[in-house]
Amino acid sequence: MIQFRAVHKSYSGPQGEFVALQPLDLDIGAGEVFGVIGHSGAGKSTLVRLINRLEPHSGGRLLVDGEEVGALDAAGLRALRRRVGMIFQHFNLLSARTVAQNIAFPLQLAGRTPQQADARVRELLALVGLESQADKYPAQLSGGQKQRVGIARALATGPKILLCDEATSALDPQTTAAVLDLLARLNRELGLTIVLITHEMDVVRRVCDKVAVLDAGRLVESGAVTDVFLHPQHPTTRRFVAEAEHVDEEAQTRAFAQVQGRILRLTFLGEDTHKPLLAQVARATGIDYSLLSGRIDRIRETPYGQLTVALLGGDIDAAQAQLTAAGVHVQVLRA
Ligand code: ADP
Repeated sequence: MIQFRAVHKSYSGPQGEFVALQPLDLDIGAGEVFGVIGHSGAGKSTLVRLINRLEPHSGGRLLVDGEEVGALDAAGLRALRRRVGMIFQHFNLLSARTVAQNIAFPLQLAGRTPQQADARVRELLALVGLESQADKYPAQLSGGQKQRVGIARALATGPKILLCDEATSALDPQTTAAVLDLLARLNRELGLTIVLITHEMDVVRRVCDKVAVLDAGRLVESGAVTDVFLHPQHPTTRRFVAEAEHVDEEAQTRAFAQVQGRILRLTFLGEDTHKPLLAQVARATGIDYSLLSGRIDRIRETPYGQLTVALLGGDIDAAQAQLTAAGVHVQVLRA
């Protein structure tokens, strides 16, 4: 659906050229929820704004739904923007218009009659669960409701792609979860391709299929969330994951110093997560184990478990081999 080929972006300012994005290649498939994570200033907004040409790219090839974005004329660009909706951190609603009027706005711009617009607005209000709020003004709504209006407005012209620029960063955790659930449902039910910018790995874990990590204008890591989240390679990615998992590095180092034996990080993915593998292997190989840290959760719909264990006594090599043979990803943290 979206292909970046050696796409780069510079801004020109008083001090000359500033490179916001180094040349990067990226593929975002139809129907994916694709996360873009990075610290402030990493180039996330820039990357996403290239997709609907809110910012033109400086070089390379950028294809959106089969079209070279750089080659579009004014009419082509208007058509592209109807196929690419966008929502924002601060919602960007028109304060003097009601909820229904905000949602109708892009339909008016697209030349729909008031009757056509009304019917579509009703559909969209139902889709985001705001039927009873149609005549309220933005100031009368909660943050979560405002973002639902933003989503309904972004979907008014039936886009295939939805760009979300820190769409949950201004919301409390409970409201964030509800908005992320809504986005996941829209992805499933409408087949909507979603590109989602965030600085929180937990947002990526909950809704994204794939993720790209940006660091100071460079794409440093990308892939399936099950790979990147569970086995982060780049130091920036590792820090994001550690933050999401609330890992206390000092406490972990102290725990390591207090236990003997081989320390392993075991990653279980999918159905294996709930099998009693560790106990079975311990019985079969005569090892003892102590749990140093652990988490069982989900990446989107996929359950995973990640345990840090110390193995003692018995046949430790055999235990490690049996875990690996059973499909557990085994990383030796201390031999
Ligand atoms: P992020 O979304 O990751 O916070 P941005 O894409 O907004 O990052 O910004 C990346 C870099 O590009 C920052 O250093 C920012 O100051 C710079 N930048 C963004 N927009 C412009 C602009 N219109 N003109 C000049 N510099 C910009």
